[in-house]
Amino acid sequence: MRKIFIAGNWKMNKGLQETKEFLATVIPELNKLKLDKVIPLIAPAYPFLEEALKGSFGSCMQVSAQDVSVHSEGAYTGEVSASMLASLGLKYCIVGHSECRQYHNETDSTVNTKILKLLENHITPLVCIGETLQQREENKTKEVVLGQLSGCLQNIKLVSGKELILAYEPVWAIGTGKTATPFQAQEVHNLIRNWLKSNYSEKVAAELSLLYGGSIKPGNMKELLDCEDIDGGLIGGASLKEEDFLEMVKIGKKSKGQEC
Ligand code: PEP
Repeated sequence: MRKIFIAGNWKMNKGLQETKEFLATVIPELNKLKLDKVIPLIAPAYPFLEEALKGSFGSCMQVSAQDVSVHSEGAYTGEVSASMLASLGLKYCIVGHSECRQYHNETDSTVNTKILKLLENHITPLVCIGETLQQREENKTKEVVLGQLSGCLQNIKLVSGKELILAYEPVWAIGTGKTATPFQAQEVHNLIRNWLKSNYSEKVAAELSLLYGGSIKPGNMKELLDCEDIDGGLIGGASLKEEDFLEMVKIGKKSKGQEC
């Protein structure tokens, strides 16, 4: 069975004190749950990664960065390299988020370079793809998603599906309160899974965790996780509240026939 990620993208929210408080509340509760297939994960802003790693040490909580530089080192003011993230002991990093694509003009080719840098540094990339509302309305979802997949994953060799995570995040569902229906999400997830089969292997397709993202909250998590090809969520707003985060982890633990 694939790993189910309950991944919180904190974006530019929560400072040092709030990060500490979140972990002080959530970690003891996570420690009471026997999580086998479910991986809780948070992605705080760069300055608080070390604190998050410290606060989660010895628990099942994983920590991710929200982005990484395409460069390895040098005169790139404000940027953070993959080797710097690795030196903290970080194991995950989000790339290709629609906000980075929109505000930093990130392209599939940029995302591709970031993935390569992360893999070279033994960090698992969590790669985001997804269509805009206009693209969906023009019936271009399939074309856009498959185009992003081939652009982002060009020349990326995967032997196992555990080396990378994909998140399908329809841009129109991010931060809007408008979630894709389970049918809409599953349809795209299935398309991605089949693309992985054709372009990598049955093994990679079977192992790779495919997350959905876009206005997930405790109230709609179960119906999304009930879909065959949805292996967790990348969650913005609802991941900021300790009780909601824990509730979504518990829903993950009961999903896919793990527990009644
Ligand atoms: C996200 O930031 O990736 C996201 C899905 O945000 P939200 O859950 O707030 O829509």
